Amino acid sequence: MAEATRTIDDLMRLMTETYKNPDLGLVRRAYDLAESAHHDSLRLTGEPYIVHPLSVAYKLAEMGIHPNVVAAGLLHDVIEDTGITLEEVSSSFGEDIAALVDSVTKLKKVKYQGTERYVENLRKMFLAMASDVRVVFIKFADRLHNLQTLYAQPHHKQERIARESMDIYAPIAGRLGMNEVKGELEDLSFAYLQPKEYERAQAILSTKVREKGASVSRIIDATQKMLAEEGLENAQVHGRVKRLYSLYKKLQKYDHDLSKVYDLIAVRIIVDDITQCYTVLGILHREWRPLPGRIKDYIAQPKPNGYQSLHTTVFADENEIVEFQIRTQEMHDLAEFGVAAHWRYKQTGLSPVKNTYWMEELAAIQKELSGSKKDFLEQLEMMKIDVFKDRIFVFTPGGDVIDLPEGATPVDFAYAIHSQIGNTCTAARVNGVIEDLSTPLQSNDIVEIVTDKNRKSPNPDWIKFVKTRHARNKIRDAARHTVKGWLTNMIRRG
Ligand code: MN
Repeated sequence: MAEATRTIDDLMRLMTETYKNPDLGLVRRAYDLAESAHHDSLRLTGEPYIVHPLSVAYKLAEMGIHPNVVAAGLLHDVIEDTGITLEEVSSSFGEDIAALVDSVTKLKKVKYQGTERYVENLRKMFLAMASDVRVVFIKFADRLHNLQTLYAQPHHKQERIARESMDIYAPIAGRLGMNEVKGELEDLSFAYLQPKEYERAQAILSTKVREKGASVSRIIDATQKMLAEEGLENAQVHGRVKRLYSLYKKLQKYDHDLSKVYDLIAVRIIVDDITQCYTVLGILHREWRPLPGRIKDYIAQPKPNGYQSLHTTVFADENEIVEFQIRTQEMHDLAEFGVAAHWRYKQTGLSPVKNTYWMEELAAIQKELSGSKKDFLEQLEMMKIDVFKDRIFVFTPGGDVIDLPEGATPVDFAYAIHSQIGNTCTAARVNGVIEDLSTPLQSNDIVEIVTDKNRKSPNPDWIKFVKTRHARNKIRDAARHTVKGWLTNMIRRG
């Protein structure tokens, strides 16, 4: 399962083709240092060591991340494995790259062993991510190449590394919306963790691709022609095959009934803008009858991780049931690269993809962590609650979507809208019915907050049931300004 070995020329070519004015000199210098530093060592695969950092850097460049991160990818193992010091990296490449290399080196020290270490490792990942999410990108690229070359490791290490990738790395990639990375991590680990199931999924998939391949490519051609006739000749239409682990999970869910898996091979259509997405949907439905209940508008209602697309499943020619996924290039990049795509848009000056709530939350944590080390553990706990738990989507009566963690209450909702609404809320109408302010909300609830202008401050008891850090902080802040809080201060002073 070895991946193609990348050379420095491959990396340079990729960056020249996909970056705007990349600092190739910087990347070349990082390569030269890494190459000479690792010169005498081999990987367990028998290849020269430099193959590994090159692969890591290549992956980062594929994600389109800043050249500094690509350079840090080339240098990520030099401090631990060679005589190079952090000071040398810093003086040759600057503080930013040195800090990235340093963080990756520190993160390496944790090894996964049982549940306790699991939590510990998760914390370290959180911490690294909160201080600089780019460190986690390097970690993902590092892990991907290690999984690709896992066959060379002794058996017990294969198990540990695959388990850790499946349980820790893949979910984090998913949370960050990096589905491409998540899928790769899962499939590579799956092969080691459940080899029999892996082979079975592979057999099913290759049989199906052989069976359906020809008709799907006819459908792709027909689609392209149809779109061109409507003036959408720029639309990119291509097939995508479901990933193995995702197929395995879906088969489990449907009691191994393959006929229920409609997206084994899906057709993806990438167009210029949102209007064209809906136009394409209309064209498809005019030509082919849609399956009831399978039209999903993730553009108007994005998934919690920010995923946007239109999905529909139709009875296409030859009675083939095919799922179509329609999106813009920006949505596509976000779906594949998640937070990393966000970074990429920011750099090139294109309009950034709309932040989801948890991204903002992450940025806030990042700021707080860098500011004070005091309530460090407490903050880590909060991060776990806020960033990683499953999210729910709740609506305002006006149809705005509020992204909240699972178990969030009307008070969290109120504060997510505006502090003043949080501070003055007295009751909540959930789907038209008055509910207690502590009632956990569910996805798709429509929530209306009843406020009382005369209310001066929130009820301190709300602290006991709110789920978001934002609401908790606001309630605490407000408590300091209450009569009671003021009195306490006076007494302390007095
Ligand atoms: Mn490495």
